[in-house]
Amino acid sequence: MHRSNSQEEAEILRKITPGGVSSPVRAFDPYPVVMESGKGCIITDIDGNEYVDLCMAYGPLIAGHSHPRVAKAVRDQTKRGSVFGAPSHPETKLIEKITSTVPSAEMCRLAVSGTEATMHAIRLARGYTKKNGIVKLNGGFHGAHNTVLVAAGSGSVNGTPSSLGVPPEDVRNTYLVEYNDPGMFESLLDKNEDIAGIIMEPVMGNVGVVPPKKGYLQEMRKITKEHNALLIFDEVITGFRLGKTSAQGLFGVTPDMTTMGKILGGGYPAGAFMGRSDILSMVAPAGPVYAAGTFAGNPISAAAGLETIELMAEKGRYDELEKRTSDLAARMRDSFEDNQVKGCVQNIGSMFSVFFGIDEATCGADASKTDKARYMEMFRFMLDHGVYLPPGPLEVDFMSIAHDDEACDKIARTFDKFLKKVKKE
Ligand SMILES: *Cc1c(COP(=O)(O)O)cnc(C)c1O
Repeated sequence: MHRSNSQEEAEILRKITPGGVSSPVRAFDPYPVVMESGKGCIITDIDGNEYVDLCMAYGPLIAGHSHPRVAKAVRDQTKRGSVFGAPSHPETKLIEKITSTVPSAEMCRLAVSGTEATMHAIRLARGYTKKNGIVKLNGGFHGAHNTVLVAAGSGSVNGTPSSLGVPPEDVRNTYLVEYNDPGMFESLLDKNEDIAGIIMEPVMGNVGVVPPKKGYLQEMRKITKEHNALLIFDEVITGFRLGKTSAQGLFGVTPDMTTMGKILGGGYPAGAFMGRSDILSMVAPAGPVYAAGTFAGNPISAAAGLETIELMAEKGRYDELEKRTSDLAARMRDSFEDNQVKGCVQNIGSMFSVFFGIDEATCGADASKTDKARYMEMFRFMLDHGVYLPPGPLEVDFMSIAHDDEACDKIARTFDKFLKKVKKE
């Protein structure tokens, strides 16, 4: 049988890097497709197959692949140098942009990834409050460092390590609560005085898309204030995706600290943590909480991020993108109904997720009940028909300004075809 270039390269990769991928979610059976190029909303693999991309690298590419303006900003900066280990103009411009648009950002420190941003923010929260406990949401994802690599332990809000190699003492002070359940959070704070704060995605994006119930974020703001705990919004996904002022602006809830990444680098590695200036002033060298990095504030990433943010700030960009996304989600919902398959589509802004076998997901526990095998079947079907979805049932489909009518039509028609196939079973 003819072996594709992807298959051959995937086999080489599997021998020389664990699981054949540089990050686990990218792997799928029988082998992941190896990419050659991306332009707009289309990606092309090394066999020349084209796909409408809905994975969009898990979020950074709101302007689409290789947007001419972002590519130019990168080229221009590359000519001036790639890294200095000293302050540079693109950093200044990006930090000015962030502190002037993100409501919570009186001050901001750049990093290289979302993982770094949350790691630093958590250390800072502990350093500022002189307390040890950190609360996170069941199903919330904040990168790959010890404090947040916890799974729900049965019958207790204390986490247990979700990875080998994480010492239990590293997560002994990490607590888990459910999203959209302020009561659970409040009773934890009532019982425990050693809670520095909660880190949470304002809209959950790592169990699929789960938006907040009305008043939930406001309630979390109130509870944290009353208990002298910090509210940290992890906006690594939602930052500059849910509008110019991000989720906190959209919902009118200003956290004490915010973490960002993904869009902030316009397709290049980036992260940032930001917040109240009395808190950020505790960061080294201004204060005693350590945070550092060779590539922190990288000028190429900063240039790409700034160009992306400015592009998206143009009149109507977010509104158009949101409309296109909600129209597509509505068509997909109609397909569920027409074909009488049980499932739902949840969307907000330019993010959406398809869940099979459930009518709604309001928290991590709900979302985990989705029919994962059915999702993977859909993933395979869409892939074979030229639509690249994230290869996991608890991820988000990301739209970009490059997703045009033709692309949306292809997604909707292919999805309907899949449901027709399911219905026949
Ligand atoms: C992706 C993500 C991170 C981690 O960011 P990396 O750049 O992959 O390290 C953290 N938090 C959230 C909410 C994310 O979606």
